Amino acid sequence: MRVPMIAGNWKMNTTVGEAVDLVKTMRKNLDKISNVDKVICPPFVSLATIRELIKKSSIKLGAQNLYFAEKGAYTGEISPLMLADLCEFVIIGHSERRQYFNETGEIVNQKIAAALKVSLKPILCIGERLEENEAGKTEEVVAEQLNSSLAGIDDLNGLLIAYEPVWAIGTGKAATGEQANETISFIRRNVARLYDDKIAREIRILYGGSVTSANAAEFMQQPEIDGALVGGASLKDTEFLSIVTQTAVIKPRK
Ligand code: PEP
Repeated sequence: MRVPMIAGNWKMNTTVGEAVDLVKTMRKNLDKISNVDKVICPPFVSLATIRELIKKSSIKLGAQNLYFAEKGAYTGEISPLMLADLCEFVIIGHSERRQYFNETGEIVNQKIAAALKVSLKPILCIGERLEENEAGKTEEVVAEQLNSSLAGIDDLNGLLIAYEPVWAIGTGKAATGEQANETISFIRRNVARLYDDKIAREIRILYGGSVTSANAAEFMQQPEIDGALVGGASLKDTEFLSIVTQTAVIKPRK
């Protein structure tokens, strides 16, 4: 049984004070929901403070990125070891990092390996761009991203995948539930090809791209979709809570 997960990617939003306020507003209500993994991924600078705030809460913590080296002369970067103390999850390969910070498949692969080495659970983001989608290349692109990201990785150790079509991120133009389910089913078959059927059945695959309280149910009703990676809507307490609540109702743990 795959436990559903709703993860909030706060991106480069919130000061430490704002992050604290947001968590304080959401904490009590999120704690009432027990059959969904609730993860928030605030900016690096808030991780330590938020970690203290949610110590007695069921909310889990993730980072939005890492660098693959353990330590050294990499000014401005954050290492896996630094994060391992602070959080359980780390988003890797988000399309904004691929687009604005030139992250290649090879870099994503190194980051995945580095995260797993310190038992951080990666949320690996893959997804096609608009022109690739329009050219009918969705499956080709996600298969290639999966191959390159997971090259040489023998043990997935809690790794999750987020299927995030780039054209749906931050645009208000989400995929349909059916489209997302179809591609996620394809991704799961590829995990079976790369690993085995058991791993493919157990791995959690999220959808991401303009998920809100208004369309969350459409995604959660799909059998292959195990939850969502939520950007913009995760910064609004009522929106995030509504998405988590709908997920708990639609995907009750058996
Ligand atoms: C994201 O940042 O991963 C994302 C899906 O953003 P949004 O929900 O705002 O489209």
